[in-house]
Amino acid sequence: MANRRIHVRTPGGELKIRIERKKYDRPKCAICKKPLNMPKLTPKEARKGFRTPGRPYAGFIDHKCLELALKKAVRELAEAILLERKTHT
Ligand SMILES: [Zn+2]
Repeated sequence: MANRRIHVRTPGGELKIRIERKKYDRPKCAICKKPLNMPKLTPKEARKGFRTPGRPYAGFIDHKCLELALKKAVRELAEAILLERKTHT
């Protein structure tokens, strides 16, 4: 997104356009809202070459939440399979 433009009156009486820079917060986990172990970067700096961990959902969810979510998903899947086996035999 573009930076916001603000009109500023200078001491000389002129009206000038000043570009307001956006503030960037540290990236946070989407589930627990704790800050991720990542530097505070603007999108431009991020494009230049900060590498997130190789794990899925890196830079979006922290390792702890991902672990819990994966365990939960696997258990639910296992339960569904077991239920299906019981009903079939
Ligand atoms: Zn989290």
